[in-house]
Amino acid sequence: MVESSLPAMERCRAFLDERGPRTPCLVIDLDAVRDAHDRLRDALPEARMYYAVKANPSPEIVRLLVRAGAGFDVAGRAEIELCLDQGARPELLSYGNTVKKADDVAFAYRAGVRRFTFDSSADLENIAERAPGSTVSCRILVDSSGSQTPFGQKFGCAPETAVDLLTRAAALGLDPEGAAFHVGSQHLDPGAWDAGIAAAAEVTRAVAERGITLRGLNIGGGLPGRYDTVPPPPADYAAAIRASVARHFPAPPELAFEPGRAVVADAGLIRSEVVLVSRKSATAARRWVYLDIGRYGGLAETENEAIAYRLETAHDGTPDGPVVLAGPTCDGDDVLYQRTPYRLPLALRAGDHVDILSAGAYTQSYSSVSFNGFPPLATHFVGGEPDEVGEFTGRHVLAEFSQVRPELLDDATFLSETLECALSKAGATVREVTSTRFEPQGVTVVALLSESHASIHTYPERGSAFVDVFTCGRRADPELAVQLVRDQLGANVARTRTIHRGRESG
Ligand SMILES: *Cc1c(COP(=O)(O)O)cnc(C)c1O
Repeated sequence: MVESSLPAMERCRAFLDERGPRTPCLVIDLDAVRDAHDRLRDALPEARMYYAVKANPSPEIVRLLVRAGAGFDVAGRAEIELCLDQGARPELLSYGNTVKKADDVAFAYRAGVRRFTFDSSADLENIAERAPGSTVSCRILVDSSGSQTPFGQKFGCAPETAVDLLTRAAALGLDPEGAAFHVGSQHLDPGAWDAGIAAAAEVTRAVAERGITLRGLNIGGGLPGRYDTVPPPPADYAAAIRASVARHFPAPPELAFEPGRAVVADAGLIRSEVVLVSRKSATAARRWVYLDIGRYGGLAETENEAIAYRLETAHDGTPDGPVVLAGPTCDGDDVLYQRTPYRLPLALRAGDHVDILSAGAYTQSYSSVSFNGFPPLATHFVGGEPDEVGEFTGRHVLAEFSQVRPELLDDATFLSETLECALSKAGATVREVTSTRFEPQGVTVVALLSESHASIHTYPERGSAFVDVFTCGRRADPELAVQLVRDQLGANVARTRTIHRGRESG
């Protein structure tokens, strides 16, 4: 199949097969994020790009896009701080949310943000007062019904209102740049921007009649990811958008666009595990397949079955049958697909993996903090430059093992090899391993890592050991290292504790 040949999906799968992290988890291929960014930039080089941070706000992704020269469409204080922390210059931030607290406008202005989108006179007045002299765009309401996740009526004002507000913006000492619109997300029709561009041109013309020249046009996001349908390439969208602009605008405006999904969707893969397969009756045609991820664990976009992800299992190619797919929580709405005709292999059993493809957008950021006790979706990264993966953020895992055979706990060579092997499998770079055997018994092993350190201390007389793995950055998985040591020792786990340092998006 075409979609299976996406190299990013292969790289994410290879990471998962090799490392076996706990599921559910999202793996992002940073090289694929960079490629997607470059493809979009090259398709529409005349437009300034503002990545819509909400699509995936991982610091690693933001940092990479800062280096690639992108700007950022931010929705509030936390996204502004995130981008600045990752090195974005405030001139490259666009505060695109039209629903803002006055304090947040003031915060943005203090941080150096000078570009805002509004769609109401109250917000415009806040901007004029708290962010004087800033560049502003007025968002107009467009029909987003062709979108697979339409925006309804929440954002944007009528074009006639926009004309009044942009005129007023100039009177308030602001710098009115132009009209903005967002056609809604996941558009498979490159012609979907035409009506918005036409409306924006009309606003621009009417404002010009009042003596104010608007120089810009912000065409928002809406470019697709590769779900159940292979979408047209970015170049087709660029050609359609360019043709619409040429048709409706007498002189070419300065273009801006705000892709979110198209930058990250195809760079991510979620691995989930089957929790339960059941039939509601002996004669029921469809099986119910319950996964360890659902609507609250990151698959929020399955609401109304808007986004139909591609699924893969290790049994693909064997006989299959129709299924209803559901999540693991005790919420009756936590059903992923019951109308969309999904089929999965008849051999599928509890414990098997189901991979969810092109899941890099609107997943991690939508997962709940702890609904029903399920933790937020963890993210792992592959690819990217070495320092694009956070160096400071890290996890310290402390574990106490019990009921280990005493002779293993007195064998310094075995323990050193066990620790080194576990650390390497868990993605850490081992620089040096030293061990000391104490009389009459007991061993200490210390490993120095590029990512920090790890150690084992044993108490053969009690059959117990303490294991401590601390790694900075995202490459190494300290929980996995501890789990592998435990498997080698055949130990019971008496206690484990994880200490997080720094910002973690997982
Ligand atoms: C969410 C959003 C985007 C990004 O949309 P995608 O469909 O993910 O490209 C762009 N602009 C605005 C204003 C948004 O709210």
